[in-house]
Amino acid sequence: MKSLKIFCPATIANISCGFDVLGVALDAVGDEMIIRKVKEKGIRITKLEGQDLPMETLKNVAGVAGLALLAECDYEGGFEIEIHKKIKAGSGIGSSAASSTGAVWAMNKLLGEPFSTTELVKFAMEGERLASGVAHADNVAPALFGGFTLVRSYEPLDIIPINSPSKLYATVIHPQIEVKTSDSRKILKTKISLKDGIKQWGNVGGLIAGLYTEDYELIGRSLVDHIVEPIRSILIPAFDEVKSTSLKAGALGCGISGSGPSIFAFSKGEGIALKVAQAMKDVYQNIGIDYDVHVSKVNIDGIREIKS
Ligand code: ADP
Repeated sequence: MKSLKIFCPATIANISCGFDVLGVALDAVGDEMIIRKVKEKGIRITKLEGQDLPMETLKNVAGVAGLALLAECDYEGGFEIEIHKKIKAGSGIGSSAASSTGAVWAMNKLLGEPFSTTELVKFAMEGERLASGVAHADNVAPALFGGFTLVRSYEPLDIIPINSPSKLYATVIHPQIEVKTSDSRKILKTKISLKDGIKQWGNVGGLIAGLYTEDYELIGRSLVDHIVEPIRSILIPAFDEVKSTSLKAGALGCGISGSGPSIFAFSKGEGIALKVAQAMKDVYQNIGIDYDVHVSKVNIDGIREIKS
């Protein structure tokens, strides 16, 4: 095998109470990449379509993640990477993670799978470090493992794949304003009160239990964020209105996707998820802000090969 064409899913990170530790992969939106094994050493981005992003290896997350993998193996050659972006950069649905995970997942396959999925997460995190200044794993883990994932620990890295309830659908709306991950990190507090901590880890535990037992009510009750959402939501136009109309339309819960500005809601069944999409669109239509909307099942496989 010399080359692979792959689908790299968008991902929702944080998931209300799970800042930097929870994430989920989506099915309906993602990038495409073609990765080729070549004789020349190193990594070259040979094509980049759909978004205006740097093609230099060291400035593109796919290049940086790929080099992190190459540094750990004794392969003499290199790789060429084509990226066809469908996810807008800075949207908050894991645009950078899709590229960095796609690169390392395909390279690992083409090399005969010398690395575990957790090792691939580590390489892809170097791409996240380039994109946002922080090597977080909450987008790259679900892209690589599929479904919901929990980063139980960063040191050492311990990723726990979590059950994905079969009727759970996500609705994501991306208002067309850019919020850089690095900027939305700067406004966060570095200390939290014990009172807020207790509420937050109660909800993380509740959410994980709800996902395993497929208890949709419990999932909904647990989708609460006492720490990050009150601060970050200020950067997102009409966040409170989008959230309240989504809940009225039947969503189980609603919050900021990644570092925003995308907003996600979870629903039981596609019918409700579509109603939630309409409710979200109405808010932005009324105030004249352009948007993209995605309604998606949970993607339990993560990155997958596309037969061409
Ligand atoms: P998202 O939350 O959608 O991943 P980020 O703000 O975390 O958005 O990442 C986007 C940043 O990463 C942008 O500054 C962009 O220039 C940079 N970047 C570098 N390479 C890529 C790539 N291949 N895909 C997406 N973003 C990239």
